Amino acid sequence: MPESVFFDYADVNKLHRADPFRQRKQASLILPLLMTKSVAVLGGGIGGLAAAHYLGRFGCCSRVVVVEGTHRLGGWVSSTTHHDQVVFEHGPRTLRVVGNAGMNTLALAEELGLADQVRGISYGHPSAKNRMLMVGGKLHKLPNSVKALFTKSPPFSKPLALSGVRDLMAPKVVNNDESLFSFVNRRFGHEAAKYGIDPMSRGIFAGNARELSVNCIARRLRDVEQKHGSVFLGMFKDRKNAVKPDKKLSSNELVKRAKREKWVVWSVAGGLENFVKALENNVLENNTEIWKNMPVKGMLKSGGKFVIQTEEKELEVDNVISCLPSNIMSNVIQPVSPKLSTLLSSIPYVTVGIVNLEYPGQLIEEPGFGYLVPSSEPNRVLGVIYDTCTFPQGDRTILTVMMGGYWFKELFGDDPSLESLLDEALTEVRQSLKIKVKPTRYHVRILRDCIAQYVVGHSETVDSARKLISDMELPLALAGSSYDGVGVNDVIMSAKNAASGV
Ligand SMILES: Cc1cc2nc3c(=O)[nH]c(=O)nc-3n(C[C@H](O)[C@H](O)[C@H](O)COP(=O)(O)OP(=O)(O)OC[C@H]3O[C@@H](n4cnc5c(N)ncnc54)[C@H](O)[C@@H]3O)c2cc1C
Repeated sequence: MPESVFFDYADVNKLHRADPFRQRKQASLILPLLMTKSVAVLGGGIGGLAAAHYLGRFGCCSRVVVVEGTHRLGGWVSSTTHHDQVVFEHGPRTLRVVGNAGMNTLALAEELGLADQVRGISYGHPSAKNRMLMVGGKLHKLPNSVKALFTKSPPFSKPLALSGVRDLMAPKVVNNDESLFSFVNRRFGHEAAKYGIDPMSRGIFAGNARELSVNCIARRLRDVEQKHGSVFLGMFKDRKNAVKPDKKLSSNELVKRAKREKWVVWSVAGGLENFVKALENNVLENNTEIWKNMPVKGMLKSGGKFVIQTEEKELEVDNVISCLPSNIMSNVIQPVSPKLSTLLSSIPYVTVGIVNLEYPGQLIEEPGFGYLVPSSEPNRVLGVIYDTCTFPQGDRTILTVMMGGYWFKELFGDDPSLESLLDEALTEVRQSLKIKVKPTRYHVRILRDCIAQYVVGHSETVDSARKLISDMELPLALAGSSYDGVGVNDVIMSAKNAASGV
């Protein structure tokens, strides 16, 4: 059964292919003798490509090979450009600016020559200000100003500022980890958990806040609570220990522009896949080899080296950076370390249904980023993103309906038809947004096992995996979205860290 269906137009993305002859010729001309290490980067998602880019930039290797299992690069970063240049995003659509990881991705965009194509969304923009919740069949704007925190804004029965007061009074509970829901419930009250962290977890992880780890996802909040007994008090008292902005990154021209223009999020003209294409071109220029359609089946240890096994050929290298999802890497690493394999296989994944819908005209009454649905509501979707409120594309409305995640099997079974998911999406927008007309174009996709779930204990799992690698003295680094953050910024940062360790 196909996992994706188009209503109208075929995908017209054309991917640049590697030219091994050109690569060998260039490599023989410019390789300094000191660069002796060969590195295999497993997986050609944004993580793998970023790792290859940084290996090239750090100039430590004689040979870098990205081994990708499919015919295309980018993994979950996937945009379709239709014949009339209208873009649908099937995976990530906006990247955050905040923090060193956010600045790092902007700096990378500039390095790749994308500065002119970056599109920033500032604080005052409706899609930055208006984030909504669907509760009781109605849309509610989340409080977005100091004043709004002190007034009662449904679905919250009391002003949200009272949650802060509760945090100052609630006793701390000493523990190593707990669920996000339990932490927020304990510190800020049940409504903050039910209408705050629950839908947010569905929006970011397509996951269940009752299972996701606070230690991993909101570690600083948990740490200051454990140290000072209150999140607010702790954040104030501990402000000197907050991560400092990296000076080099802060001085990047695109970062400075983002700060000047108060961007909250950004994307690339023509879709985020253009970021992937720029990365691909860049790593090819740096003599990296890209093997497409070459799923890694396993790897073996041979002396101090690794042998990467694919169906067609083998590759012997000094170092490996794995940017494969942990559930795939678990199988690949089995012959080298069954124990590491077991640890990696314990990280769960969820499947998400994505429906892109396009309508003529402007159909959204209250512009915003979109809305999320708390898990306590009967709606059968995780949320709806108003794509064209953030990045308009002429006189049309484009929405993306996200569904399933942690609840995919319970709601839709193992193998729902794409038509049934389309029906679910159309029902949702008909009931919630009163959109009764038929879409002019749509696209439905099932993204199997697309988001790793950082459940309670995730940090210990990742630490144990890395300790095992170090104890066994394996020249292997784990990077990508399975370990240190699922956002694109975190993935790129993890790839940079892995490359700097080679
Ligand atoms: C629907 C959705 C929406 C999202 N929205 C956002 C957002 O708005 N903002 C944001 O910052 N993040 C978002 N994310 C998260 C972000 O997109 C991902 O975490 C990130 O793209 C993962 O990159 P990766 O390289 O780690 O992994 P992947 O994208 O999973 O790449 C892994 C690569 O490995 C390849 N591979 C698999 N098996 C093998 C094998 N055996 N051999 C060789 N290659 C193999 C795959 O084909 C793939 O190319 C979203 C994710 C999803 C799914």
